[in-house]
Order: sequence, then C-alpha cells, then structure tokens
Amino acid sequence: AGHFLKRIASHQALGAFVAVDGDVTLAQARAADALIAKGDAPALAGVPIAHKDIFVTADFPTTAGSRMLAGYRSPFNATVVQRLADAGAVTLGKLSCDEFAMGSANENVAVPAVGAEQAVPVRNPWDTTRIPGGSSGGSAAAVAARLAPAATGTDTGGSIRQPASFCGITGIKPTYGRASRYGMVAFASSLDQAGPMARSAEDCALLLSAMCGPDLDRDSTSIDRPAEDYSRTLNGSLEGLRIGVPKEFLGDGVAPGVRAAIDAALAEYEKLGARRVAVTLPRTELSIPVYYILAAAEASSNLSRFDGVKFGHRAKDYRDLADMYGKTREEGFGDEVKRRIMIGTYVLSHGYYDAYYLQAQKVRRMIADDFQQAFKDCDVIAGPAAPTVAWKLGEHGDDPVADYLADIFTLPASLAGLPGMSLPAGFGEDGMPVGLQLIGNYFAEAKLLNAAHRFQ
Ligand code: GLN
Repeated sequence: AGHFLKRIASHQALGAFVAVDGDVTLAQARAADALIAKGDAPALAGVPIAHKDIFVTADFPTTAGSRMLAGYRSPFNATVVQRLADAGAVTLGKLSCDEFAMGSANENVAVPAVGAEQAVPVRNPWDTTRIPGGSSGGSAAAVAARLAPAATGTDTGGSIRQPASFCGITGIKPTYGRASRYGMVAFASSLDQAGPMARSAEDCALLLSAMCGPDLDRDSTSIDRPAEDYSRTLNGSLEGLRIGVPKEFLGDGVAPGVRAAIDAALAEYEKLGARRVAVTLPRTELSIPVYYILAAAEASSNLSRFDGVKFGHRAKDYRDLADMYGKTREEGFGDEVKRRIMIGTYVLSHGYYDAYYLQAQKVRRMIADDFQQAFKDCDVIAGPAAPTVAWKLGEHGDDPVADYLADIFTLPASLAGLPGMSLPAGFGEDGMPVGLQLIGNYFAEAKLLNAAHRFQ
C-alpha cells in the first residue's frame, strides 16, 4: 500500500484520485498484515484497491463527483466496499468519476482532484492530452498508470467497459442484480451495476468473486444466487467456442484502427480453437435513444432526494422552502446532470409518457429479445467496446450528443442486463489502446472471464 500511496502522490497531475488518507490506508494495511501473520488471512488480505467515488465509504468522503455532495461522509460502507474489506482488501482512496456517473469522458467532474485547487478532468495515462473514458475514468486511469493494482467501477451504460477499453485494462460488468447496489449513489437503478477494473481477467475474477452475491435485505433487485469462485474456472478450453460477431458492431462508424485490432483479436481466438460466427443485433442503433430516455427518466427520480434537506449541499440565502430547493439544486448540480433531469421529467410527464418512456421500455424488451435470438447461434458475443480510441480532452466541446453516440456498443448489453467485459486487444489510431468487448448470456461471467484469460 505504501508503494501505491507514493505513486498516487507523484502522479496527481492525472487527476485520478479525489480523496486519499494515508493514515487510514496504512492502518488497514497493518491490520491485514496481522491477519496474514496469524495465518488465517482471507482471499484478498493486504491487496490495495481504490474505489470509484460513487460508492459510499465510512472511512473516506463520498462526492459522486458532485458539488451537491461536497463534504459528505457516509455513516456506512456500500455492500461492495464492505465485501472487499471483509475479504481483506486495503482502500487506497476514492477515484474521480463523472458527476453521478453521467458521462463518457470523465470531463463532467465538479469536485477537485487530490492536489488540485479546482475540479479537473481525468487524463489518459497513455496520452495525457486525451480523455480516459467515463464515467469510471479515474478507476481506469489509476489502474493503467499503476497507481492501484485494481479498482471498483460502475457501469450503467458502459462506464466500466469503455474506460477499460480506452486505458488498455480489463473490466467486467456482471449480470444485472449480481452485485449489490446498496450504497452505490443511484443514477439509473434498473441499469446500475458494480464491477472490478484491473490489469487482467485473472485479477478481475478474484475481485468479482468477492464483490458479488445476494444482498436481499438491502437491494430489492439483488439476485438470490450464491457468489461463484471465478478463479477456479479460468483454464477451460476454448475449443469449439462460438464467438458471435454482430454485423452492426463492425459497421462504417468504426475507426479503421479499431476494426483492425478487433479483427486481429478474433483471428487469435480462432487459433485458440474458437469459431467466428456472424450474428445480428438489429436494434443496436436504437439503444442510444432508448437508453438516454430511460436513464434520464430514472435519474430525474433518483436525484429528487437532493433537496438540501436531508444531506449534501444547501443554498445559503433563500426566501422560503421552494426557493431553497431551487437554489440548492441550481448551485449543486452541474450542466449535464441538469440536462438529464430535464429530459427525464419531460419524458415522464403526463402528455409525453406514452410517446417516449413507454415506447422506450418496449424497445428495451426487443433489444433483450434480440440477444436471446443471437445466443441461439453463439456462446459469447464479441466486438469493439467503443467505435474509436480515446478522443482528445475537449474534443466533443459542448456537444453532449457526440458523447452519447460513442456509447453505441456498450448500451445494448446494459439495456438487456447482460454481463459484459472489455479486455485489451491491441492498439488502434495514434497507438492508443483498443478494447475487445465480450458479452455473455445471463450469469455467464465465468465463461467471459475464462475466454478473456485464455486470450491474455
Ligand atoms: N456514458 C453513459 C452515460 O453518460 C454511461 C454512463 C455509465 O455507465 N455510468 O449515461
């Protein structure tokens, strides 16, 4: 842990961390050492890990990247954080993310990074003029720059897979309901899932085994199915594995360098005994409007709790209660968050509910059905995690839709609640990393991790 704390201190310019506390970390490390010395150490005893600042933590502040929660400290740990702590992991600190996990570039940050006076975007360690991806950009940058051996992330529409791809690391989002959402600051509850981000599938397997499992009393969508030991199933043969490549995932919008890296990775899989088969996910393009309607609708409801009364920021000068609500939310939320709240309340409003929200729910079901159709012909689905490599900081300027469109390949699995991962597949434009996305059927995490491990 001491080694990583030093690296974190000397690499503050990346903006990856928003909270560190060496005393807390070293005390946890000493406790882990004591367990190891006694000979009854749990699986992750002494393993340093950093948490996306969307998980509440009792020992570190939690901001979710928002001014709304500046100075907030939770009285309890998120289930995922607690399970990793119970497994012996040592917390290195909290990692920058887009405000309330809304973003694809980690540029929507409203709280200062460690060592910075003001809010700063996270930088990609492979090229610090570029974004690391988002919303778990701090997690991806920290692991890629070796500021932490592993990190937690969350994925609502791609926020583990896309930054893992852009930073050349491995990350997995499990089946919806596999990891508890308790203590994860809620964005879009029917989509939010936690998962690990690390250097390899092997490391992800270790972490995911500790993070998953039922939490029925605390998360109403938690699945009652015991955690699996994913490390034990990492050496299965890929002989005969049918890898379905949806034609929509390698269409015109994909950068040539990305396509070349993905094709090379698939050829490598064929050498390992897998078979490439053509499949179709015909509603891939629709996943963008469907997701940005549903995620905004759920966000507008979830964020109504930030009213200046119960916790977080409260405006100083106000006339009455309504004025206090208004000013608090005006000051506390950033532009992208406000945009989502407005879209969300609009699509849920009386006159438009049927035209937008209900319609999006119907198409969401069709997208999930398309996957089941495809899985009749293949065991896993593969393609790029994103159509391009990481873009330059500020390149999308004031155009949020440019960010939304870049999510096209991660959104379908999110809407269907399927497990998905990204693993390094080589390099594309300007020598930047490219991630191969693997999508499995429900509860096929072990199959994905095995396929990734054999490739690595
Ligand atoms: N980029 C998507 C969004 O902004 C996904 C974010 C996420 O998965 N948390 O909503």
